[in-house]
Amino acid sequence: MKPDRARERLEQRRAELTALADSAAEGRRPVELDQSRVGRLSRMDALQGQAMALETERRRANELRRIDAALRRVADGEYGYCLTCGETIGDKRLELDPATPTCVDCAGG
Ligand SMILES: [Zn+2]
Repeated sequence: MKPDRARERLEQRRAELTALADSAAEGRRPVELDQSRVGRLSRMDALQGQAMALETERRRANELRRIDAALRRVADGEYGYCLTCGETIGDKRLELDPATPTCVDCAGG
């Protein structure tokens, strides 16, 4: 994949993730405000929902780190090479996941 196209796709995905994080933060606020008024069961629901939201947040942060690392590789002219073995990563694989740091062999299938 051409670095310019990779950068475009990575930045697009980055913007999506950032927008999602913002709306998720909005969504969490009412749950916290309502906690004094809800019953025990719904409080547990709220806590569970919060744990799930945190997990989603954690994954999102991970993906952002991957994307930032890939963008750095684009900037350094190292994009598209496997971080483990140094071989070029297949275009198909990069199309599916432009932030992938390894070739299909090193990813373990
Ligand atoms: Zn490799």
